[in-house]
This record gives sequence, C-alpha cells and structure tokens, in this order.
Amino acid sequence: MPIKETETIWHNGKLVPWANATTHVMTHALLYGTCVFEGIRAYDTPHKGPCVFRLKEHIDRLFYSARVYHIDMPFSEQEIIDASREIVHKNGLASAYIRINANLGYGEVGPYTLNCPTDVSVIAFPWDTYLGEEAMKQGIRVCVSSWRRSAPGTIPAGVKAAGNYLSSRLITIEAKRNGYVEGIGLAHDGTVSEGAGENLFVVKNGRIITPPHAASILGGITRDAAIILARELGYEVIEQSLAREMLYAADEIFLTGTAAEVTKVQSVDDIKIGTGDYPVSDSLQKIFFGLFSGETEDKWDWLTPVE
Ligand code: PMP
Repeated sequence: MPIKETETIWHNGKLVPWANATTHVMTHALLYGTCVFEGIRAYDTPHKGPCVFRLKEHIDRLFYSARVYHIDMPFSEQEIIDASREIVHKNGLASAYIRINANLGYGEVGPYTLNCPTDVSVIAFPWDTYLGEEAMKQGIRVCVSSWRRSAPGTIPAGVKAAGNYLSSRLITIEAKRNGYVEGIGLAHDGTVSEGAGENLFVVKNGRIITPPHAASILGGITRDAAIILARELGYEVIEQSLAREMLYAADEIFLTGTAAEVTKVQSVDDIKIGTGDYPVSDSLQKIFFGLFSGETEDKWDWLTPVE
C-alpha cells in the first residue's frame, strides 16, 4: 500500500517535517528488530468530529510491548496519547491511520544491549478501507497458510513487535500468490491462530468462538471490541481452541483488526462458508461502524476527539 505523506511527524517530542524524520543505518531496531509499535485508526464522526478509536488501549499495549522487550519509554502514556491526537489535528486529517513506533536507536551493536536510546515517532496519514468496500460487503476469500505462527515460548505473539510481521509477510505473500486475499495462520499445535494481521471469529449455531490468547494470537483491540459488542447484541462469545476443520464447518467467519475492521470471510481454501448469509457478522459490522456514525452509543468511551 503506498504511503500518503503528510506534512508533520512527531519525533521524540518535536514536530518535524515528514522528510526529516530519519534514522541511521546502524539503528538497533534495523539490525535486531527491536521495534514495538501500534497502528490506530482515527474516524471522522459526524457527532464528535475526528476521533481516535480506543487510543488509551493502544497506548497501554505499546507500553506493555516495550516492557517485554526491555525498551525504555522516555515519554509517559499521556504524552504519547497527546502526541497521537496532535499529529492528526496538525496535519488537518479528518480520518487517519496513526502509526506509533518505539524502537531502540543508534548507540551500540549486539542484540542484548540495554544502552541504546529509544526513538519514538508518531505518524498519521490518510487511509481508506484496507480490503476495499466490496470486501466489506461480500466477504473475502482466504486460505489456511502453510506457515505456522510462532509457538508460545519462542517470539511472543502477544506483543506487537515489528519482527512478528515477518510471519505475517510470509503468510500474506503465499496467500496472494495463490489468489486469496488473506491467509490464516495455524498455531504450533495445528489449531487455528489468526489471520496475518487480523483476529478470527467463527460463528456456529448462533455462538461466536474465537481462539484464546495462548493460540499465538495478538490480543487485538478490535477483537476485544467485537467481543463486547457481540455480547451487547446478546450473542454468546467464547474463547476456545479451534480445530482447522471448524473453519470449513462454520456458519460464518469474520476477521477483526484495526486495518480490516470487521471483515466477513466468504470462503476458506475455496470451500464456501455457510449458506452465504451473514446475519451475525452483518449485525456486528452494523454496531461497529455505528460507533463512528453515531448510531451506536459509545457507552465505553472508546472515541477520543483529536481536538
Ligand atoms: N493480529 C495481528 C497479527 C495483527 O497484526 C493485528 C493488527 N494489529 C491484529 C491481530 C488485530 O489487532 P488490533 O485489533 O489491535 O488492530
């Protein structure tokens, strides 16, 4: 996806022109992958103006990820929250994708070093529907990847670190080369984990099932919102290991993520899902997007106005 440049980037506490937010080739994060990050959406809402979705939860996850990898954060959570709002506003964006990076910078070599400064940047740029309007309505074709997600006790899948996306890259490239929109990764034990950049939900006999955290998933903030909203709609939602064949037997499947929002799955490995009707996923899409149109009451304080 091409980058749409904006004017200003928040870089270590200062607003700098887009072209000046650069880093050295010997940056620790480039050499060893020591970068944790967040991807967040801001929506243009008619009732509250431009708002960031679940900003606090994203920043909490960023700090949690940094802690796991011993990356000291030189800013407070509140400073990063303020920077995220400011960067959308300063760039005159009504809706945006906000990317926050916290990475070990230039200083020393060696994967274990604790002496590199942390380089923090907050970037915002325009971003539309990730998979396209048609995908939102019709659902997407996915396949089960031949690549497994990282096993528990190896590289932590529950941490949002740049290196985890090497797995996502392999899964998505394989899927796209074979004519699918996205690939689903299995966990180390062959149970279902998640999409390359999305959490997965199966609907079976009116119940909604999603793999647990221990199935090498990233604990998605949209996943959490979907669970809360589905329960709000009266559905039973359970976190449970899913055998691969459950994908083919599902009545409905949908994916969630900041980029994918709530996206229906039309087929898995060319096997059509259910009858082609998606009452549960449709109602969830409606209540989810209603948060941004104002039709769904934001009881949880998930929208933070940028101004
Ligand atoms: N799993 C992976 C691997 C992801 O990259 C993402 C996107 N961040 C998700 C799940 C969904 O997480 P969230 O809803 O917090 O964006």
